[in-house]
Amino acid sequence: MPSLPMSPLMGQMMSQPLLISNILEFAARHYGASEIVSRRVEGDMHRYTYRECHQRARRLANALHGLGVRMGDRVATLAWNGYRHLEAYYAVSGSGAVLHTINPRLHPEQVAYIMNHAEDQYLLLDLTFLPVAEAIAAHCKTTKGFILMCDRARMPAESKIPNLLCYEDLINSHSDDYSWPQFDENAAATLCYTSGTTGNPKGALYSHRSTVLHAYGSAMPNALNVSSRDTVMPVVPMFHVNAWGLPYSVPLSGAKLVFPGAALDGKSVYELFENEGVTFSAGVPTVWLGLINYAKQNNLKFSTFRRTVIGGSACPPAMMNTLIDDFGVEVVHAWGMTEMSPLGTTCTLMSKHLELDRDGQRKILQKQGHAVYGVDMKIVDDDGKELPWDGVGYGHLLVRGPWIIAKYYKEEGGDVLQDGWFPTGDVATIDPDGYMQITDRSKDVIKSGGEWIGTIDLENIAMAHPAVLQAACIGVAHPKWDERPLLVVVLRPGQQVSREELLLFFDGKIAKWWLPDDVVFTDALPVGGTGKIQKNKLRDQYKEHKLPTI
Ligand code: ADP
Repeated sequence: MPSLPMSPLMGQMMSQPLLISNILEFAARHYGASEIVSRRVEGDMHRYTYRECHQRARRLANALHGLGVRMGDRVATLAWNGYRHLEAYYAVSGSGAVLHTINPRLHPEQVAYIMNHAEDQYLLLDLTFLPVAEAIAAHCKTTKGFILMCDRARMPAESKIPNLLCYEDLINSHSDDYSWPQFDENAAATLCYTSGTTGNPKGALYSHRSTVLHAYGSAMPNALNVSSRDTVMPVVPMFHVNAWGLPYSVPLSGAKLVFPGAALDGKSVYELFENEGVTFSAGVPTVWLGLINYAKQNNLKFSTFRRTVIGGSACPPAMMNTLIDDFGVEVVHAWGMTEMSPLGTTCTLMSKHLELDRDGQRKILQKQGHAVYGVDMKIVDDDGKELPWDGVGYGHLLVRGPWIIAKYYKEEGGDVLQDGWFPTGDVATIDPDGYMQITDRSKDVIKSGGEWIGTIDLENIAMAHPAVLQAACIGVAHPKWDERPLLVVVLRPGQQVSREELLLFFDGKIAKWWLPDDVVFTDALPVGGTGKIQKNKLRDQYKEHKLPTI
């Protein structure tokens, strides 16, 4: 960053750095009795308050200091959503070290790769992940110790890891007499790796400043709209871009927090919603699929669940309609990415939209939404020329702002910005009111005869068919057109539809040349570590598929 000019007259407000520790300190002091409830991997429920969380986070900060962890050192976690993970969030970053949340669904080799790349000093892990840690421990060159997040009674009698420490012992043997250090808000706070569908994963290194600003911005009414009257359950994992910032935005709002642990099936999520009075939740579409199916099959309604944020991949309109029309749950479609902390846009209506009928409103709500203050965006053509916001013309989506990446950790990939903007790799339209709609990821877009076919539209139409549970559209090589769309479909249990019937269902809904050339039916689609369909795997699987149009 070039240094900025100084004004001869500077503002005279306190210059308190924006630090993550201050969020928990605030929650403990001003909403001290608000609850944090966790379903533990041990099988039982755990409940305590922000006040107690703050106390234990300070004990952990002392413990980490005792283990030799210093400012800037990386400390990793391999854990579900739970109170101990939250304590680590605050103790590690709050003490000036860097929290590296690892996606446990990655292949163990990849976990070892990113731990070495990050040079993690310690790994805090849930009981569930002991086998992963045992498999990689010998390969983690910089890791001095592994801390199992359980009490003494649950420690294994023996383990392949020689330096296995007990979390509760550590906490209990340290006092909560700890003052959070004050330091430059631009210091590194947390580290997340992209999923690395192509090549090795790259690290996004967030700062205290970027994290606190993101927490402020994402809590606003047009965004996640979190308040002290809410009970919030982040279903999105704390290892998936810091659970979209909820471990920060919820405490600063004073809301009750509910953590689902490892139980993310429809029944477990439903029961926790009901038992704890969850009003608001957030997750990727695949999670809601399980919950909706469970509620429908058992003829259940939600008593308190009123609002959900769905993002990470496009929310199928059929899913949105079910949640709103059948269950009375407001759906906020959101878009973002690891490199954006992750929030970029959220879709809520403006007052002028309230006059529109149901379908008119739904058309808007299905878009990925409006920029949250803190994020600026634009679409450009292949030459980098900005395109108009007409809601029709699509181009490469670029973003900038104080919680958007400037470079990857260890400068992997070199200079990633284009004239100060970050290229998202998504293709989108923006309408005159500033609502953005993703057409596709640029690597998923189908190039047919020099034109682009967006796969999200095709998938959404297929999923609106009552017999279709999931659909993914990929490009398959075609001698004349380069690529043509192939639709891969998973049917709902007990439902049938033929290839011809499904293709007829597209009639009048898209331009004729967008119509998939073929449909294949399969039992399941490959899903990656963050719950998204892995189109690269599908492309591999069907690369020899012979289209009937050839
Ligand atoms: P990865 O998928 O590689 O783990 P991210 O979780 O950061 O990485 O994913 C970011 C990407 O996910 C975006 O660039 C976009 O392509 C896609 N995405 C996120 N939210 C949405 C959404 N609401 N609609 C469509 N695509 C989305």
